[in-house]
Amino acid sequence: MAELIQVRSMICDRARTIPYSGIRKIFERASAITDAIHLEAGEPDMLTPAYIREAAKSAIDAGATHYTSSAGTLELRTAIAKKLKRENNLDYDSNKEVVAAAGANTVLSLAFLALADAGCEVLVPDPGWANYEPEVNLTGAVPVGYSLLEQNEFRPDMAELEKLVTDKTKVILLNSPSNPTGGVFSSEDLRHIADFAIEHDLAVISDEVYEKIIYDDVETQSIASFPGMKERTIVVNALSKTYAMTGWRLGYAATTSEIVSAMTRLHSCIASCASSVSQAAAVAALNGPQTDVAAMVAEFKARRDYFVEALNQIPGFHCRKPLGAFYAFVNVSEISETSEELVLEILDKARVVSVPGAAFGAHGEGHIRFSYAASMSNLKEAMKRLEAWRHNRSK
Ligand code: PLP
Repeated sequence: MAELIQVRSMICDRARTIPYSGIRKIFERASAITDAIHLEAGEPDMLTPAYIREAAKSAIDAGATHYTSSAGTLELRTAIAKKLKRENNLDYDSNKEVVAAAGANTVLSLAFLALADAGCEVLVPDPGWANYEPEVNLTGAVPVGYSLLEQNEFRPDMAELEKLVTDKTKVILLNSPSNPTGGVFSSEDLRHIADFAIEHDLAVISDEVYEKIIYDDVETQSIASFPGMKERTIVVNALSKTYAMTGWRLGYAATTSEIVSAMTRLHSCIASCASSVSQAAAVAALNGPQTDVAAMVAEFKARRDYFVEALNQIPGFHCRKPLGAFYAFVNVSEISETSEELVLEILDKARVVSVPGAAFGAHGEGHIRFSYAASMSNLKEAMKRLEAWRHNRSK
């Protein structure tokens, strides 16, 4: 016991205050249920397309097994700059304005470390991806949640943002299409946020990892393409979701040379560079045919159409049709006091794994998140179990 206390006291405050993921308890409980259906994962269930896997194998055989520049190989940065021009109409200099790192997650951390001094405030979406808050905390800055409410189609409320901004606010983070809501900011929303950022002299970190996973007639646009915004925006993206490459760990940022230089120096201290093999695979992904991406999105759309409609048949479940990403964010406030309790009940009684909305921020309470990045047969089996559970529930 004495030994345990001594070891614990070695942990510094910074590490001590990093919370366990809000979903750890659920995962632990779920791991004991052998036939559970897992709808909690935030990643495509498909294999990385074959031409990308082949490019990685060739890169290994050709000896691409060494450190690269901390910003990433020039070949990769060129492929990224070309993608940003082709798809987003954004001009970046591959030599100075692009940096690659291990997934959007690392890129976001580097972005926060590059921009946020201790004590300054960073506006983050609530509900929003659960890592934003601890990543801001690690810099010593203060995350301040802005709400994305269901009654507002999970879009930002500019009047609220005006109330939240202070002379300490330095950065606003955007994530559209959003995890966990599946909402997409309209181009008018982006224009308002651009005006807001310029008026209050804020930097914008735009997390665009779900950019390609959109449905119906929805269009996405990077806020960096609005007048006066390129100079104050860090565009963050990754190969993870678009090309089913979560395990390869490859993300990137495009922004001013000054910020890229800061992020690259930080990256050099922390990780030296992104995996050389993953960088070669990313070049193939970005330069190659985009047909696999289109096929994957069509598959997600079919699953969304089936799953969201079926969820809405369950008494007490209300789910807006998500416009992007691969999450159904279901309002369950009619039938449950807390989202965590309901998630645990569904896990125990229906053997389906979901995530409590509260894990994504206080405004996520009253909701639970299902990922439909799962096979159609698993989604159908999950629905059967959910219907049976709901039928047997007293209210
Ligand atoms: N941003 C959002 C909104 C996410 O949902 C995720 C992963 O779930 C990430 C960033 C991290 O992506 P990556 O796997 O590229 O680090």
